[in-house]
Amino acid sequence: MTNDKRDWKPATQLVHSGVLRSEFGETAEAMFLTQGYVYETAEAAEARFKGENPGFIYSRYANPTVDMFEKRMCALEGAEEARALASGMAAVTAAILCSLKAGDHIVAARALFGSCRWVVETLAPRYGIEATLVDGRDIANWERAVRPNTKIFFLESPTNPTLEVVDIAAVAALANSIGARLIVDNVFATPLMQKPLQLGAHVVVYSATKHIDGQGRCLGGVILSDKQWIEESLQDYFRHTGPSLSPFNAWTMLKGLETLPLRVRQQSENAARVADFLAERPEVARVIYPGRADHPQADIVRKQMKGGSTMICFDLKGGKKSAFAFENALDVIVISNNLGDSKSLITHPATTTHKNLTDEARTELGISDGTLRLSLGIEDADDLLKDIDRALKAAAA
Ligand SMILES: *Cc1c(COP(=O)(O)O)cnc(C)c1O
Repeated sequence: MTNDKRDWKPATQLVHSGVLRSEFGETAEAMFLTQGYVYETAEAAEARFKGENPGFIYSRYANPTVDMFEKRMCALEGAEEARALASGMAAVTAAILCSLKAGDHIVAARALFGSCRWVVETLAPRYGIEATLVDGRDIANWERAVRPNTKIFFLESPTNPTLEVVDIAAVAALANSIGARLIVDNVFATPLMQKPLQLGAHVVVYSATKHIDGQGRCLGGVILSDKQWIEESLQDYFRHTGPSLSPFNAWTMLKGLETLPLRVRQQSENAARVADFLAERPEVARVIYPGRADHPQADIVRKQMKGGSTMICFDLKGGKKSAFAFENALDVIVISNNLGDSKSLITHPATTTHKNLTDEARTELGISDGTLRLSLGIEDADDLLKDIDRALKAAAA
């Protein structure tokens, strides 16, 4: 029923993979807004529950529209299995907790999306799961943090907001050497620019809310891995705790995937142009963009990423006052803590996404009062540059 043709290039997979066409032969993917499924006979229901007659049982477990989205994500990622969840955080939490028990240990890179850091640092220890946060840029820090009970390594790369990069293959090799699993949050790279499973990671998670929807509508998340891990470690947790994605949101994500390559290409071209523009400006103290040769870890970027990402981090001279004046002077670019959208979005991490960290933790992550994070949209780059130029002058005035 599915047409998962692995030899297709991503742009083709993202339009055609995973389609489950109904008896009506619809062109567009159908939205199956149903909670449950009916059986012809009592015997058919019995057989379905025994697993002898494949099909759907209840939409907390699986749903045809959600299934299409999962299959399309598998084709794109080159994964055997996927589960779609109600948000990126549902995906991160399930991926981390589903296989752990009291007494186990997690090692995570400290530069994490705020809620991810809370799950690792605050939630997991409440259930007796120990956690160590390390500076993920140096593999020696991961090695030093390993304990006999280490079961999970967790990282994101590039990181939020300072776009640090972690050597995924090196951390995966360490995980393999001690029988632990590496979970990678691949949101900032997008599935088009970085393939953690090919680099040796065991599990990949996404907030589909970001580039996969990409048009600011629905929350969603995805976990991708091998069939054995999904069935043995995730399946029961997923079915019985109920973080499943709504079919409506899955349908929105499916249609988002069709245009993902077009949007991400435009967004990263815009990011590259804006990064180069900012780097030349006297008002700017520092620009971090993984696509530039002056990125602090440009060699790792070249090794594991196919592009520079859709995000830029930069520091304005003049601290918070300049940063706020810059944001307030923008016209095309809007102020929002979201990212991956077709609209360009700017945020001041120190007072929004990272305000809950201590001053010390913010400094460790390289976030100053002048730091701004810019998520590039699909607008015309000339309009973005004009907007930024005007706002830089306003901020310096
Ligand atoms: C947004 C985000 C999440 C959380 O996703 P939600 O869909 O908002 O729950 C997790 N990790 C990263 C890197 C993100 O950017």
